[in-house]
Amino acid sequence: MSFTLELTPAHHELVRRAHTFAEEVIRPAAAKYDQLQECPWDIVDAASREGFYSPLFYADMIADPTGLSLPLFLEEIFWGCAGIGLTLVLPALALSALNQAGTPEQLARWAPEMFGEPGDIKLAALAVSEPQGGSDVANLQTRAVKDGDEWVLDGSKIWIGNGGIADVTIVNAVVDPELGTKGQAMFLVPKGTPGMEQVRRLDKLGHRASHTAELSFANCRIPADQLLGTEDKLNHKLDKARRGEGRSAALGTFEQTRPMVAAMALGVARASFEYACDYASRREAFGGPVIENQGVAFPLVDIAADIDAARLLCWRASWMAANGVPFHLGEGSMSKLKASEVAVRAAEQAVQVCGGWGYVSDLPVEKWYRDAKLYTIFEGTSEIQRMVIGRTLATEAVKGPQHHQLPGDHRGLSRKFGHGSLARARAGEAFLKLAQKAPDKLLELGGKLASPGK
Ligand SMILES: Cc1cc2nc3c(=O)[nH]c(=O)nc-3n(C[C@H](O)[C@H](O)[C@H](O)COP(=O)(O)OP(=O)(O)OC[C@H]3O[C@@H](n4cnc5c(N)ncnc54)[C@H](O)[C@@H]3O)c2cc1C
Repeated sequence: MSFTLELTPAHHELVRRAHTFAEEVIRPAAAKYDQLQECPWDIVDAASREGFYSPLFYADMIADPTGLSLPLFLEEIFWGCAGIGLTLVLPALALSALNQAGTPEQLARWAPEMFGEPGDIKLAALAVSEPQGGSDVANLQTRAVKDGDEWVLDGSKIWIGNGGIADVTIVNAVVDPELGTKGQAMFLVPKGTPGMEQVRRLDKLGHRASHTAELSFANCRIPADQLLGTEDKLNHKLDKARRGEGRSAALGTFEQTRPMVAAMALGVARASFEYACDYASRREAFGGPVIENQGVAFPLVDIAADIDAARLLCWRASWMAANGVPFHLGEGSMSKLKASEVAVRAAEQAVQVCGGWGYVSDLPVEKWYRDAKLYTIFEGTSEIQRMVIGRTLATEAVKGPQHHQLPGDHRGLSRKFGHGSLARARAGEAFLKLAQKAPDKLLELGGKLASPGK
């Protein structure tokens, strides 16, 4: 399907419903959960009743061939509150890992356990990062060893969203330490499994409505069928890795989810930007609204342009993911890098524009400032996104921009006679030659016909 900026009626309706929910349900609860630093169960339940919290809702959005449903939805929800938004979306990140690494049977069996239903809400977590390092995924230490009909997990995970309170935790663990990321596999650990413990809940700068924890795994035994995918498939993957082929399941999940993290960051960027513009239009100093000073307006202008640029990158990457177009130039990382950095700048500028009021919790901008910073850290720091894009410079970027590498449309007529074609150029030249010899009236008519319109 071709990339388009034209939203369908379904997209408009999704945006309207998500925005209304963000404005009427999420925003009013944001300050409370930021202070309490607790999981907002009632809001998750309300989202579930609204149809915004279920595996089928996500499956439906991911199936949208335009790729736009999910980023449109996420931007609105995170506009409401990033911490509450993260709680709502963490099961979808775990679902993405289950979908990538698991069998269809595992997906059907476990996906409902990750979300629950209204009145019986469930949560899921994706546990990859470890205390000794999150960026260097090849250096993960949590081990998974097969023992009879069970897998035994041992190790530690940290900064895990919904960690310790999730009904289902997808854990990335090392099966063969010699093979780096390719020697890892994903395991599904249900709540209450002996050996999996929450060590502590982490006290965070922002996103405080999302529960984040450190987990330990000590002789944590799970049935063999809770390895995601089959053992045959794992052995095949390990054999391939020993021959230097294949890819990591965790890194594959991150590639898919980065444009989605970009959409989340855009929600915070837009909330901050809109608030700053509104405040600066109402706040008066030296006899007029402060927005009339270029010193106030110009930074907001740059942010307006950067938010739109980041959104276009996000939509492009989402469209590519939906249409199976590979990220040759690190397009997923580009979208996350730009959206996260504009979110930080927009929130900082919102604090600046609001002056002293921006620095105290009477206004929401100080919270957005704390929330925004996470986007340059999780799901790959900004430095890691630059590394991913950097790896393409010598091999792919030298071949030219992305659209040179996209498969062309081979419909002959458009190729031969479409706008900018040689045939049209030649016809135009012939027309001009003829026109020079034509009487004035005919010339005027020809000019009207040839005009591209005003
Ligand atoms: C609130 C929150 C929620 C999170 N949720 C989850 C979750 O649900 N599941 C999960 O698995 N993880 C989660 N994470 C972990 C997150 O993904 C990691 O924190 C992140 O990947 C960075 O890893 P690190 O903290 O170990 O930093 P490190 O890897 O120790 O990096 C430290 C610094 O060095 C830089 N750096 C490292 N290597 C290089 C290099 N080669 N070149 C240049 N710079 C480099 C990094 O960019 C960073 O600035 C979460 C983190 C936070 C804060």
